[in-house]
Amino acid sequence: MTVALPRRALLGAALAAPALARAQGAARLLVVGGGFGGATAASYARREHPWLDVTLVEQRRSYITCPYSNRVLAGDLALADITFGYEGLRARGVRVVHDRAVHLDPVARRLRLGGGETLSYDRVILSPGIVLRYDALEGYDEAASARMPHAWTAADGAQITLLRRQLQAMPDGGVVGLVIPPNPYRCPPGPYERISLIASYLSKHKPRSKILALDAKEAFSKQALFQDAWQALYPGMIEWVSAANDGRVVRVDPEDMVLETEFGTRHRVSVANVIPPQSAAAIAIDAGLADSTGWVPVDPRTLESRAAAGVHVVGDAMFPGSMPKSGFLANSEAKAAVSAAAALLRGEAPPEPIFVNTCYSHIGPEYAISVANIFRVDEESRSFAEVPNSGGTSPRGDLPEQRRLEALYADGWYASIIRSMFG
Ligand SMILES: Cc1cc2nc3c(=O)[nH]c(=O)nc-3n(C[C@H](O)[C@H](O)[C@H](O)COP(=O)(O)OP(=O)(O)OC[C@H]3O[C@@H](n4cnc5c(N)ncnc54)[C@H](O)[C@@H]3O)c2cc1C
Repeated sequence: MTVALPRRALLGAALAAPALARAQGAARLLVVGGGFGGATAASYARREHPWLDVTLVEQRRSYITCPYSNRVLAGDLALADITFGYEGLRARGVRVVHDRAVHLDPVARRLRLGGGETLSYDRVILSPGIVLRYDALEGYDEAASARMPHAWTAADGAQITLLRRQLQAMPDGGVVGLVIPPNPYRCPPGPYERISLIASYLSKHKPRSKILALDAKEAFSKQALFQDAWQALYPGMIEWVSAANDGRVVRVDPEDMVLETEFGTRHRVSVANVIPPQSAAAIAIDAGLADSTGWVPVDPRTLESRAAAGVHVVGDAMFPGSMPKSGFLANSEAKAAVSAAAALLRGEAPPEPIFVNTCYSHIGPEYAISVANIFRVDEESRSFAEVPNSGGTSPRGDLPEQRRLEALYADGWYASIIRSMFG
């Protein structure tokens, strides 16, 4: 089987590291990116392996979560409610460096920062997230996003705030257009939660308005549940157009606020939320870790890059096979990567990882649905495989109490994942 040789080669490289680590005292674990994957990795490493010397490099002083940002758009929450600082990680003993990682040298095991400092490591965990591919949709670039916001990377919150203001300024009877990318992208159900929560806002404040969702796909996550709820809560407000029905947008014109499809239909809209295709963040691409898909292939047992020994890659930047790109999974992958890195630094075999995911989507303030899955390593294909019958979606039907409870469970999930990242 083709598995044996790379695995031995990888272990061989890994087993050289403990001697180095021992010679220098505590082993140095470097984490790049302080979001769902990186903040979890840094916190978990200190909690479970206090012998590790952990440094986290994050370019921003505070982190705004994409989860729950759709609730900010709807006006149910403020940006401050989804913004977190790094004091908790410092208190846990993580050295937090606010700087931009500019060059990773996996051979020398060094990371250069924008401010000039160079950090050496024994193992590094990268969780830098995504970049938006501004080359993928004609007419859409960073300048266009000032008029047609994506609001798909929370960053400093400016995009979410802009989209919220545009919705507030739109006249009743206006059309909100959404451009939804092909798979794979960050948070498969995210655009449909966004449609729902924009509808929740419009139904209260601008009930004559419409939402036109133009999709590059034929189907989407939790589709039946979303569409049942749209029918029940926001009848006649939402039109979702699949690719086969001329939903694929190929060109946008921010001046005229036009979204143009592949068959040449030009939709003029009042507000446009354009979510472009994505790839792994620049630091991963520049280090040569990504393949032609734009994402980083990893060994599923260790989350170690297939291109560079000692570099574990988790979260949205990683090529996850059948697993979705979610904050929940980034958290799960980060814990697996820390366990693998710690074992390899000790010269031990990495433990068998299990990856867990639940994605809650709000459709209204007290109305949520979910999908859950568990994944393991499939040794044969050397990829992530869903455990049969391990999860599922919320049941269909008129179940208001179930939807209300799922909204509460979603709040519980959010509070606990934030604690595991920043607490
Ligand atoms: C609207 C929306 C709703 C969502 N809802 C959910 C949900 O309900 N549940 C769920 O599980 N997931 C949800 N997601 C998905 C979730 O946000 C992502 O899967 C998650 O953020 C991925 O984590 P990450 O660590 O890979 O990347 P991120 O969380 O984006 O973190 C990357 C970090 O790396 C930093 N960084 C990048 N490059 C550098 C560099 N060179 N130097 C220093 N720092 C760097 C960035 O500043 C950032 O802080 C949602 C996403 C969106 C867009």
